[in-house]
Amino acid sequence: MGSEGNMKGFVLLLTLGIATVISGGQEPTTKKAVNGPFSNEEMQRFRALSPIDVHAHVFAPDPFISMLQKLNLHILDILVVDDMSPSHRDLNKERSEALTVVHASNGYAALCTSFDPYSFNQPDYARKVIRGLNDDFARGAIAVKLWKNVGMEIKDASGHYLMADNPVFAPIYQDIASHRKTLVAHLADPDSGWQPPNPASPDYEYYRDHPSAYMYGKQGVPSKEEILRARDHVLEQNPELRVVGAHLGSMESNLTELGRHLDKYPNFAVDMAARMPYLEMQPRETMIAFVTKFQDRLIYGTDVGFSRGSSETIGELEAVYANDWRYLATADTIMYKSKPVKGLDLPETVLRKIYHDNAVKWFPGILNTAAMK
Ligand SMILES: [Zn+2]
Repeated sequence: MGSEGNMKGFVLLLTLGIATVISGGQEPTTKKAVNGPFSNEEMQRFRALSPIDVHAHVFAPDPFISMLQKLNLHILDILVVDDMSPSHRDLNKERSEALTVVHASNGYAALCTSFDPYSFNQPDYARKVIRGLNDDFARGAIAVKLWKNVGMEIKDASGHYLMADNPVFAPIYQDIASHRKTLVAHLADPDSGWQPPNPASPDYEYYRDHPSAYMYGKQGVPSKEEILRARDHVLEQNPELRVVGAHLGSMESNLTELGRHLDKYPNFAVDMAARMPYLEMQPRETMIAFVTKFQDRLIYGTDVGFSRGSSETIGELEAVYANDWRYLATADTIMYKSKPVKGLDLPETVLRKIYHDNAVKWFPGILNTAAMK
């Protein structure tokens, strides 16, 4: 999540959302900034897009599902195996909680499963993983999450970091492709994870609160480039595998590089989850040109998280959707870190792709949740 995103990212994402809301009170320009949940008129426009959020981590149905119905919003509910988070260590528990959400969702939620990468050096690893994935596919799961602990945390016995292109994963990728499912790859992290602390960075609070994910200053850790090179090998070696790179494919600070990847790998698209601030920091004309050029490869996502006992309110979550939509769909001024940002006012055809069509194309079955068992 979050800054994943990370499951830990939940916290980051919410931090960002709240920052936007709070800073909205300041008005450095004469144009009034718009913040908070949708107005009635805005909500009608949002609902009409049949919006889909392809990056959510929701483990308790109430009152989250009422919000989905209110917003006419579909989600992809993503499992993550994270041994540094007590609530995300147990895949079976997570799966059963997410399935509770899916089954209660009236068709608004679909499942993205995951697998345990920590046991990668045990005998028969790939075969066991494949059996688990195939069980989840039979239950209706439409995608599989690969998380950043591959590349940034897990090491083999000789101390080498486990990378996404390790041959141990090859049969797993083949299995996902042969079932026509999608791999959601959150590999690496924002550039700022390898850089000195910078309060101006969207991820400053995340790394302050999650030092274990902060690569800067650590000895012997892989560079971001090495991790993404391994990801690119997976794209090259599995042309039949649909891969959606979470968080702009971790190329949030370099749109040129992201564009090069989208041009080079036809089996690659990216979600925008928890990286909207990076887009908002770009010049408006640059963003309009980029989104227009890659309108078939960008998929809306948030990284919102919700579980039993979550402190975040539905109003806060709704404000995340509202502020993102204002940036993409209107010429209104929103606020990011006390700075006014004018919305892109994208045409309806492009919005419809980002919010709906691309999700349907890159995640086949995302709306056919009646198939969920
Ligand atoms: Zn996430």
